[in-house]
Amino acid sequence: MSHKIVAANWKMNGSLDLVKELTGEIKAQLAKLDNGVKVVIIPPALYLRDVHREIGSGFELGVQNVSQWEDGAVTGELSAAMAADVGASYVLIGHSERRQLFGETDEVVSEKVAKALAHGLSPLVCVGETLDERDAGHAVDVVCGQVEKALAGIGPDDWKNIVVAYEPVWAIGTGKTATAEDAQRMHREIRDLLARLGAPADTVPLLYGGSVKPDNAAELFAQPDIDGGLIGGASLKADDFVRICQSA
Ligand code: PEP
Repeated sequence: MSHKIVAANWKMNGSLDLVKELTGEIKAQLAKLDNGVKVVIIPPALYLRDVHREIGSGFELGVQNVSQWEDGAVTGELSAAMAADVGASYVLIGHSERRQLFGETDEVVSEKVAKALAHGLSPLVCVGETLDERDAGHAVDVVCGQVEKALAGIGPDDWKNIVVAYEPVWAIGTGKTATAEDAQRMHREIRDLLARLGAPADTVPLLYGGSVKPDNAAELFAQPDIDGGLIGGASLKADDFVRICQSA
């Protein structure tokens, strides 16, 4: 029985019509899947309730971001409490698009992790190096630094709710995937770091993200330290997403 997690990051894509169509197809096709994989759908927050209504039980839901603030005069933001209130159990934190386009620093990432945990959400903490950082030989330092800073403030009871997603920035939406060996090597580094930080490292799920497709998912998921995937582009095609879930 698989204990893998496959999460669909729809990013800023979709419409009510697409939600209905995609959710309906995913639900119908995955209803027959009995490999034990945990499927997390992370649509734009505006559509979370619609996905919830459409998909029913058997799936987990997440949001793509939450505010680091609790509530109040923060126009345009959505709080962790709100996400939990409408049925999310996961939240992406520190996705590279948020770091690059919205200037999210490691400090903000760590504040968001704390806020998510305080409201019972599982933070799916995204980390990854750029191509320049990899070429300069700094990938491990960059990734481990991001993990350490994101999780610096968490308590011993929080580890059971943490998920880490290793997403090399150069592999997101580019069609370039890390080789299974490269991804495994980085996952091992992250797991060793988690152990040094006092985590029950073997139980913290480590997902790989970055151009995961039906034809490379099985090899990635077969690696000993890859506990599933965070899927962007391919999660918007029901058949591809279902095939990826079947590989887990
Ligand atoms: C992502 O956005 O987290 C992602 C991995 O995207 P893609 O699968 O499209 O590379």
